[in-house]
Amino acid sequence: MQTKTNPKAKTADVLRNAASRAIHYVEGARERRVAPAEKDVRNLKKFRERFPDSPSDPMKVIEKLDDLGSPATVATTGGRYFGFVIGGTLPVALAANWLAGAWDQNAGLRVMSPAAAELEEVALRWVCEILGLPENCDGGLVTCATTANFTAVVAARSALLARAGWNVADDGMFGAPPIEVVVGEEVHASLLKALSLAGFGKKRLVGVEVDEQGRMRADKLPPLSERTILCIQAGNVNTGAFDPAGEICTRAHEQGAWVHVDGAFGLWAAVSPKYRQLTMGFEQADSWATDAHKWLNVNYDCGIVLVKDGMAMRSAMTMTAAYLQAGALREPMYHVPEASRRARGVELWAALKSLGREGLCSLVERTCAYAQRLADAFREAGFEVLNDVVLNQVLVSFGSAEVTQKVIRAVQEEGTCWCGGTVWQGKTAMRISVCSWATTEEDVELSLAAILRIGGAFRS
Ligand SMILES: *Cc1c(COP(=O)(O)O)cnc(C)c1O
Repeated sequence: MQTKTNPKAKTADVLRNAASRAIHYVEGARERRVAPAEKDVRNLKKFRERFPDSPSDPMKVIEKLDDLGSPATVATTGGRYFGFVIGGTLPVALAANWLAGAWDQNAGLRVMSPAAAELEEVALRWVCEILGLPENCDGGLVTCATTANFTAVVAARSALLARAGWNVADDGMFGAPPIEVVVGEEVHASLLKALSLAGFGKKRLVGVEVDEQGRMRADKLPPLSERTILCIQAGNVNTGAFDPAGEICTRAHEQGAWVHVDGAFGLWAAVSPKYRQLTMGFEQADSWATDAHKWLNVNYDCGIVLVKDGMAMRSAMTMTAAYLQAGALREPMYHVPEASRRARGVELWAALKSLGREGLCSLVERTCAYAQRLADAFREAGFEVLNDVVLNQVLVSFGSAEVTQKVIRAVQEEGTCWCGGTVWQGKTAMRISVCSWATTEEDVELSLAAILRIGGAFRS
């Protein structure tokens, strides 16, 4: 394509230019400081200009994007980012993303992209297998675990109300028989948002007591019924702990309740023989939400929702119009809230195909071992580790809340690595999540040295 104003900006040149800049960025992200320098963040102001009257050369547009944008990113794809629960990007996933970007498929319907629909279906089946979930689960790809939670809760809502003789699609929610929602007291904030979007406000929720690791106490479950959605957790975002799913699911199902699992990162432990026992019992639930952009290290955005009763999902998510000619095969759009969307199944497929069971298992076990190494070193140095490090999450205190906060801030500013903060059961802690494929032993030791140096300085 040539435009009149920019005769030289040929498509291939623009793409090659962007690709070479991207490769440079990826390589640099391993070496550079993790948080961007303040001057680079300040430089973002240069983006603030009046909407241009005339076109710009695409080469120059990409150049500006890279010159100003790249230095002001956080190097989450390098090996030393341990904030929140954030994976990196496997090279194969990034490469597949480039190709999928070139395809620019609308993955809503099979007729708009047979390739996207097929890859998504294959990838979803593999995910079910990896997570040890029922083979015939139905599923969909959404932006993130929050939307996956939302989609599952809406499917649950429709199914429970249908059993009570109420059709949500026709009659809506006003005047519907009441549904009770039960969550653990350590429920993730995103699930609360998902529930509120689905019509279940915070005051309507019943909280179940948790133990010192944040696990729901099965002996504290309230009476449940065929109008209850019970939400449990595989992998607490602070401690990494898992609810006792087997016992909870048995009890819930005896009483006719629907069990939903928030397993944004934790469910992936099922791939490892070493950690699999943590995920036992979760396969008995009715729906699951997880992320591919966390531990699987697929690019953003890639959330996954799985539902055992596919009819429940489709009856809540199908949209009909004369021109939406659905075929006999699975239609992506009938499993998720979105219609038009990008083909996120492409990267998901590429990551799974490239890693295989062994690669994924090694990624999970390696990152868990690094978390263990960090926890051991903190304890040795006399700092308190607040959680049982059963997975890839570590909570460490450097003394008082004030001191711990100061250490966290200083570590972030120093730039070797990036860790966030949290308050765990009343105690302020640094929160470390190891889930990037890119993290090496050297990254762990460099980061540890920086944290211990700063922690030690504040102690004296
Ligand atoms: C990260 C996380 C979420 C939210 O995931 P998003 O992809 O950011 O929406 C939900 N639950 C748990 C346990 C998480 O760790």
